[in-house]
Formats: sequence, structure tokens, C-alpha cells
Amino acid sequence: MDIYKFERIWTMPTPKKSRHETKELLILRALNPRMNLSDKDSRKYYALEKGYQGEVMFDAITQELKNNCIVLNGLLFKLKEKHFQIDTVIIFQRTIYLIDVKNFEGDYIYKSDPDRFCKNDTEIDDPILQLLKAESKLRQLLEEYRFNLPVESYVVHISPTFTLYNAPQNNHVILPTQINRFIRKLENIPSTLNGGHERLADLLISLDQGDYPISPKPTYSYDGLRKSPYCSKCNSFSVSVGERKMVCNTCGCEERMESVVLQCVRELVLLFPEMRITTSVVYDWCGCVVPRKTIARVLKQNYQVMSSGKWTYYV
Ligand SMILES: [Zn+2]
Repeated sequence: MDIYKFERIWTMPTPKKSRHETKELLILRALNPRMNLSDKDSRKYYALEKGYQGEVMFDAITQELKNNCIVLNGLLFKLKEKHFQIDTVIIFQRTIYLIDVKNFEGDYIYKSDPDRFCKNDTEIDDPILQLLKAESKLRQLLEEYRFNLPVESYVVHISPTFTLYNAPQNNHVILPTQINRFIRKLENIPSTLNGGHERLADLLISLDQGDYPISPKPTYSYDGLRKSPYCSKCNSFSVSVGERKMVCNTCGCEERMESVVLQCVRELVLLFPEMRITTSVVYDWCGCVVPRKTIARVLKQNYQVMSSGKWTYYV
């Protein structure tokens, strides 16, 4: 008997599609502790990490929605050969909500012509402009597939430290002090979903491109990177490696050796996809401080063993 027959996915408040870091962010995150990023890459990393954190904060809020809706997080669509990204889509019975999450911190001043946010000598285009473009593109995409639910879009400023002076009144901008009210509004939307809504959600998921096909890549080389495991909590390289666990000398955090080694392998695969993973390669990447037998054990338990001649490698 098919037990899933009775499970109605659209009653689940959890996202039907969850969010993942872009490859660009993962690469910068892996490089950041191991090298001195250029100013440009450093700024990029900060902005991406900050943005991602904000989105995850908002996901935690939408996860609590109790009414009938489908939440899709982190979508990248392609329309007329151009990509456009949507942070969050929430499908209700009569409306689709499109939400862009911003995680700006500190005091900005709103200026018009062109509409922008200014802080010291930094200027950011008013995110509402980008939002309206995304909204129009999503409408076109929906029309193409003959779905005609109206789309309402919002920019949510998630950071409680964000202030925008001279902000014009705009019902599509949710400032930090308005988030609770906004969520309450979403929660009170009467909504009963049917199979059509689920088909729409499935369609949007199937149209998701995952990640940009070519993302900008910072310049780095194997030799230029610091080799050693480091604390996943505070990024400190001052760690004591034992047989079963690694202890951070800076923050005291303890991690199982298995997860330390796996993290190192994931970084290697991400940064050097062409490299064959062998015990020696991982041993070197771990700064020769993790015993070879620990590495071999973890690799054997978590990866497939391949052999070419006298070499053993793992995939
Ligand atoms: Zn630490």
C-alpha cells in the first residue's frame, strides 16, 4: 500500500524547496581562512555571507507559518537567456508572494533620482527596483505556463540594526520593525490549496537552475593556501588534533575527527575538483597533523574506493 497517498504536502509549513549556498559563496568561504583574499573578493565574500545569513533568518520565520501555503526558497530562473533570482516564493490560494530579503546593517539615507541607499561613501541601488524586475519576469514565466495567479512582491529588511532615513512610504518595503506585523498578515491570509497549487510549485522547482552556470572565481593556487584543519566555530588554526577529536585552543570547541576530515575533503573537492582524493593528498591538505590512518579510515567509511594500478583513490 502506498502510505504517501494520505500525505498532503501542501499542509506542511516547512519549505518544499530549501535554500543552498551558491558555489561562489562556498568557494570564498573555504578560501577566506586559508589565504588573504583581495579587497574585492573580501567585500564580495562579506556581502554574500551576510546576504545568505539574512535569507536563512527569514527562512526560520516562514517555517513557522501555520496556514496553507507552499514555501520555495532560493530560486534561480532563466527567461529569454537571462537569469533572475528570487529569494523566497510563497504560494497561497489566491496570490503568489515574491520576497527579496536584504540584510543591510546600520544607518542608511534614502536618496532619489536615481533611487538609492547611501551610507558614508557606499551607495546601493534601491532593492525595490530589482524586485519589480523580478516580479515582472516571474509574471511572464507564469503566463508562459498558463498560471494566472496574481503576484505580490516585497523587500524584507531582516537586520534589526538597519535604519533607513528619509524612506518614502512604500507598502512593498518591510522594515525590521514591521516584520512581525508582516508575518501576522501572511498568517491571516485565508488559503486552501489544491493540486493545481502543487503543480505550480513543482513547475517552479523544475524551472530552478540551481546555480549560475559560470560564477566568478577568485584567483588561488594550491601552494598559496594554508594547510591545516581549523576550528569550524571560530576559524582558528590553533587546534590540538587527537585520535578521536580535535580541540580548538582558542574557543575550546571540540569536533569529532571524522567531521574534521570530511570538512577538509569537501573543501579540497570544491576548490580543486580535478584533484584525485587520496590519503596522501588529504594528509598534506591537513598540514600533516592528522594521522594517515585516521584519514584512511574516514575516507574508506565515507567514499567509494577506486584503484588505478598501485594507487587507491576515493570518489
Ligand atoms: Zn574555535
